[in-house]
Amino acid sequence: MNTPELPAREAMEFDVVIVGAGPAGLAAAIRLKQVAPDTSVVVVEKGSEVGAHVLSGAVIDPIGIDSLIPEWRSEDTPIKTGVTEDRFYVLGESGALRLPLALMPPLMSNHGNFIVSLGDVCRYLARKAEALGVEIYPGFAAAELLFENNAVAGIATGDMGLAKDGHHKAGFARGMELRGKYTFLAEGARGSLSKVLIERFGLRADREPEKFGIGLKELWQVAPDRHRGGLVQHTLGWPLGNRTGGGSFVYHFDDNLVAVGFVVHLNYHNPYLSPFEEFQRFKTHPLVRDTFTGAKRICYGARAISEGGWQSVPKLAFPGGALIGCAAGFVNLPRIKGSHNAMLSGMLAAEHAAAALAQGRANDELSSYDNAWRSSPIGRDLWRVRNSKPLWSKFGTAAGIALGALDMWTNTLGFSLFGTLKHGKPDFATLDPAAKCRPIAYQKPDGKLTFDRLSSVYISNTNHEEDQPVHLLVRDAALQKSSEHDVYAGPSARYCPAGVYEWVEEAGQPRFVINAQNCVHCKTCDIKDPNQNITWVPPEGGGGPNYPNM
Ligand SMILES: Cc1cc2nc3c(=O)[nH]c(=O)nc-3n(C[C@H](O)[C@H](O)[C@H](O)COP(=O)(O)OP(=O)(O)OC[C@H]3O[C@@H](n4cnc5c(N)ncnc54)[C@H](O)[C@@H]3O)c2cc1C
Ligand code: SF4
Repeated sequence: MNTPELPAREAMEFDVVIVGAGPAGLAAAIRLKQVAPDTSVVVVEKGSEVGAHVLSGAVIDPIGIDSLIPEWRSEDTPIKTGVTEDRFYVLGESGALRLPLALMPPLMSNHGNFIVSLGDVCRYLARKAEALGVEIYPGFAAAELLFENNAVAGIATGDMGLAKDGHHKAGFARGMELRGKYTFLAEGARGSLSKVLIERFGLRADREPEKFGIGLKELWQVAPDRHRGGLVQHTLGWPLGNRTGGGSFVYHFDDNLVAVGFVVHLNYHNPYLSPFEEFQRFKTHPLVRDTFTGAKRICYGARAISEGGWQSVPKLAFPGGALIGCAAGFVNLPRIKGSHNAMLSGMLAAEHAAAALAQGRANDELSSYDNAWRSSPIGRDLWRVRNSKPLWSKFGTAAGIALGALDMWTNTLGFSLFGTLKHGKPDFATLDPAAKCRPIAYQKPDGKLTFDRLSSVYISNTNHEEDQPVHLLVRDAALQKSSEHDVYAGPSARYCPAGVYEWVEEAGQPRFVINAQNCVHCKTCDIKDPNQNITWVPPEGGGGPNYPNM
């Protein structure tokens, strides 16, 4: 059908436009207003409200919030549970070996950290930002970058009310142009606009490939006698084999809440592996299963986590703006912490943008921000752990973790035996053909401790307008069949934590089905499809999960 002629978009002008109301975007907005109160700042957020799409562990290092809001400890905040106990185990199928904390480099200690819902922390930061005059628009996805003279000049939000077949439904509304002197991309891991921009400006030249994991999480309300407020517990090993990186976290916080989660590194090899099922299997281990006796699972979700660190961070500045937070990838992998660096990078970019605006500059490159991060606390945090991920990928969990710990110790003393190691292949290129791998038999869920995908997605409160263009774009359908299906046995049906992808038999032929309405916006398909044949683009604003406190 003919696409109707589109009315012009309305435009609004700001000093700084920020895409994404996560810790990075909100910290940047607050810092801009702190150092230059007259700066006009807008934040767009694709979730229906701030925090609706934020999923994290989360044990936070308070260095970020201490620098941003020094008075937070005297306020009513969602940061209530200090870490009281830190445990680390290596799991076998039925046993668990507790590692003495004295073996761990001091940087791994959680002493002084806090267990939170990062979504709730973002809601608190949003209130702070609004009180300073920041405009926040939740329910609006930044769908397009605006360019002028080859510099980013802002973003356009997506049109609302577009049907699947392209016709305009009743109530169709054109997106808005939000034009800015500087645009910050704070979309988190594998941002859709960030990906386009990194490519266009060649920001990854001379850098190692990005690396990712998929993190799955459930929030449980447990019986009071099973709750140990302040306990932080991490495991490695079972149910993953030695060649697959990842591990679990269990955090006890607030009012009988337990956050349990599992991360699988996306450079795994076996296309039959299912991160979702590995997570379910983990909960049956004797070390943890009793925690959930008499408990209620109240939320589920998943999100990619950036793992490349120091050697994978792209150039941060481009004409007209900057990448901040996990859109650039500042997670310290062995600590599984990135929210502090997300905040610190937002603040750093804000300070450099405010200085540029004060000089009357606009839409140029904030090179000084890019030059500053490696010698800032963010750089110091990532430098010491830069070899952990490459050693783990190269030598497997047992030897890789031991060598990684040794390297973190020597780095703490100021040197490394390894220099700076490379990551090797990007995650999409690590799958082995199915013919070389053994299928993995996963047990059926019991509906009490272990669950299936659909009942899990249900409690992520995911909702998308049904009649809208599919936001998961398959570039070449024939390639999906000849490679993803025929060579790799359809790994999308297993790596997607929301059951979006299925291969169904129709008239004796496999057909690729995309249940886009279930998508929890984790971005794993965009990362792991072996041919980079799937592209995630933002659906209509407000669609996706509605996490209450993840
Ligand atoms: C399972 C898991 C466990 C983790 N555990 C911890 C932990 O214990 N401690 C810790 O410190 N860190 C942890 N992290 C990492 C931490 O969550 C991230 O480092 C942090 O959230 C990054 O912040 P950000 O603001 O860059 O991105 P995000 O928190 O991802 O926020 C990005 C925001 O931008 C919005 N957005 C994206 N694209 C668009 C668009 N085009 N238009 C509009 N809005 C958009 C998203 O909806 C989201 O609200 C964990 C991560 C995962 C996945
Ligand atoms: S479709 Fe892609 S982004 Fe959506 S939940 Fe599945 S893997 Fe994640």
